Amino acid sequence: TKTKNLERYLGSRLPGFPRQPAGTLAVRQYSSGQSNPTFYLQKGGQAFVLRKKPHGPLLPRAHKVDREYRVQKALFSAGFPVPEPLLYCSDVSIIGTEFYVMQHVQGRIFRDISLPEVGPAERSALYLAMIETLALLHSFDLQSLGLQGYGRGPGYCKRQVSTWKKQYDAAAHTDIPAMNKLAEWLANNLPPDDSEESLIHGDFRIDNIIFHPTQARVLAVLDWELSTTGHPLADLAYTTQFYFWPASIKGLGQGSILETPSFEELVSTYCRCRRISTTLSNFNFFLALSYFKMAGIAQGVYARYLIGNASAENSHEFAKVVKPLAERGLELSKRENLLFHQSRKGQEILLKVKQFMKQHIYPAEKEIIKYYTECRNSEDRWKKPPLLERLKELAKAEGLWNLFLPDVSGLSQLDYAQIAEETGRCVFAPEVFNCHAPDTGNMEVLHMYGTEEQKKEWLEPLLEGKISSCFCMTEPDVASSDATNMQCTIEREGNSYVINGKKWWSSGAGNPNCKVAIVMGKTKNSSASRYKQHSMIIVPMDTPGLKLIRPLSVFGYMDEIHGGHFEIHFNDVRVPVSNIILGEGRGFEIAQGRLGPGRIHHCMRSLGAAEAALEILCQRAAQRQTFGKKLYQHEVVAHWIAECRLSIEQARLLTLQTARKIDMLGNRRARKEVAMTKVVVPRAVLKVIDCAVQVCGGAGVSQDFPLAFMFAYIRTLRLADGPDEVHLSTIARWELLDQSKKLTAKI
Ligand SMILES: Cc1cc2nc3c(=O)[nH]c(=O)nc-3n(C[C@H](O)[C@H](O)[C@H](O)COP(=O)(O)OP(=O)(O)OC[C@H]3O[C@@H](n4cnc5c(N)ncnc54)[C@H](O)[C@@H]3O)c2cc1C
Repeated sequence: TKTKNLERYLGSRLPGFPRQPAGTLAVRQYSSGQSNPTFYLQKGGQAFVLRKKPHGPLLPRAHKVDREYRVQKALFSAGFPVPEPLLYCSDVSIIGTEFYVMQHVQGRIFRDISLPEVGPAERSALYLAMIETLALLHSFDLQSLGLQGYGRGPGYCKRQVSTWKKQYDAAAHTDIPAMNKLAEWLANNLPPDDSEESLIHGDFRIDNIIFHPTQARVLAVLDWELSTTGHPLADLAYTTQFYFWPASIKGLGQGSILETPSFEELVSTYCRCRRISTTLSNFNFFLALSYFKMAGIAQGVYARYLIGNASAENSHEFAKVVKPLAERGLELSKRENLLFHQSRKGQEILLKVKQFMKQHIYPAEKEIIKYYTECRNSEDRWKKPPLLERLKELAKAEGLWNLFLPDVSGLSQLDYAQIAEETGRCVFAPEVFNCHAPDTGNMEVLHMYGTEEQKKEWLEPLLEGKISSCFCMTEPDVASSDATNMQCTIEREGNSYVINGKKWWSSGAGNPNCKVAIVMGKTKNSSASRYKQHSMIIVPMDTPGLKLIRPLSVFGYMDEIHGGHFEIHFNDVRVPVSNIILGEGRGFEIAQGRLGPGRIHHCMRSLGAAEAALEILCQRAAQRQTFGKKLYQHEVVAHWIAECRLSIEQARLLTLQTARKIDMLGNRRARKEVAMTKVVVPRAVLKVIDCAVQVCGGAGVSQDFPLAFMFAYIRTLRLADGPDEVHLSTIARWELLDQSKKLTAKI
């Protein structure tokens, strides 16, 4: 009878609704989970969509289909893509509730936000069309739309924070400190422009959009139930929040992260369309608010599950996601701005490190370098100067210690990258903060892959700075940039592994405090693939059969500051089986995990060296005079200065971008960026040092300036951790892969 009633009603009220033949109106409910039931109507070759209130008692401000009708009407008249609303019926006697009917729009709807059915190029185009539509929505003037009074006036953000806080508190099942902290942060950091009011959608997602069947064009934006007036950036943050989705949450909600288009591309397109600055002040607030809201919703779903009132089958899993969502919200809240901004903690530590460098490190430089120069020919040459040990104690006492390890320091890679640059201005400073290679890489390996016993025995004293370590991978007899060439063997004999082989370039092995080596070698398993035949094992330096053969020089320097670089031989070196890391054949897997962040840290430190070199260059250029003018007044020198600044800034941007990608997507998905950074930065830094040497003249290559040692040290970075050529091949491989994806999309 309801269908008949409806058919009769539409026949008399809806212009163009076919009256004949009677009794052929087909009605089908859409399955997608909108809270207002939606139906597809068809009669005589014409199609419409009906949306109604649900039956039963309803929350006071929810399910307002009259508002949906009103907003769609206003937007349609203004030329915004929405289905044309055709008729509103408040007479509940027709189908039991209020309803409205709109035009049926034919097109594509994508239910999965990663759009698996299209290629990267089309996905980009669709997302950009979506974000342009959002910008268009936000550019309407409420008055000209005739929607004055549609929302609840200024103070949208404040209301959102308190509404979601109340809803969360009512549903909370356990104490989640991150959620409380996030609520507090939001309440205390409301944007100053909370009075800004635009028409906002409230649930603007790609799966609420109908696209043209073949073109990247938005035909209609659906589901206006949550529309209101408020701050437009709330919509933008909600739409882009999945870029920051915690990797730990899979299978629930927005599990997939997009690589194309990038977050920056979407946001800058939005800003361009709205003619606003891309700095988007307070955007961190809106991202954090979005996560707060998602966490609140997840908590609500779980609460309904607990009382047996949830509709989704997986609703019990929602309890697990509240905490990671709240934590991500907190992390985002600490970001000062969109691009490369450190968390508050990162900023504080950077400031302290800068002060420490000024107060303690730079004044100690002369004495420490003198120590190494004077000890060069004595027995003490590998010992650390007492002043350095004192500085370490001081840094430790100030909490400026182990800053490289996120799980210990609480810093992101982006935070630490900027700190590493600061410490890189002085050659021995990283050690003062217990942030020096190769200990950092080795600690990372033990932290990520070590057993509890291995951590206790070796990681703890390394973290405390009581011992140091070396890493033995490269071999004198084979080209080690292809590590599958490795000949050193690690063979199991009863309860031991026996190691035989030669290694060289083991940095830090000369330090008398170097107590342990992580050694990579071949474990017999010829059936496994080339990359599963190697293992890493812990070898105490005092194990019988381990012998330091000789230190290797770097352009004539023995590099005592870094504990030298040694050739080490292993003759029947026997260690317990429990010393194997992660398991036999897992060496390459560990090497990959070790090198992502470590390489970026190296690059940042060397940018610090570049800054120091440019400072020397400029000072010298301003001091000395040739042919009647200061050196910097010669245009060629001025251009060198400019070129150096360009190189440093470009290299730094790439490094920060990579650090951010590691933070967001993890080491593996940032592999191309890590390789690019590893090639670009040493080149840029070497160029700066070379210019500085040139401007300093003869003094530049002498012991009176640090430039010669800097050059020697940085030059090795084009070899260490893999030579440039290997990284270039990696970059090319990834680039070709990315391009082939684009090509497939076009075909
Ligand atoms: C100062 C310093 C510190 C180091 N510290 C350590 C350490 O602590 N632990 C450790 O294990 N190792 C260390 N190394 C070693 C370093 O990682 C290796 O030197 C590097 O991996 C290259 O290996 P290789 O010397 O055997 O050169 P090879 O493998 O013999 O390569 C020589 C050259 O061949 C070319 N080449 C290689 N592959 C390709 C390719 N695919 N395409 C084109 N050309 C190619 C490159 O030009 C390369 O430089 C250090 C090296 C230096 C200089």
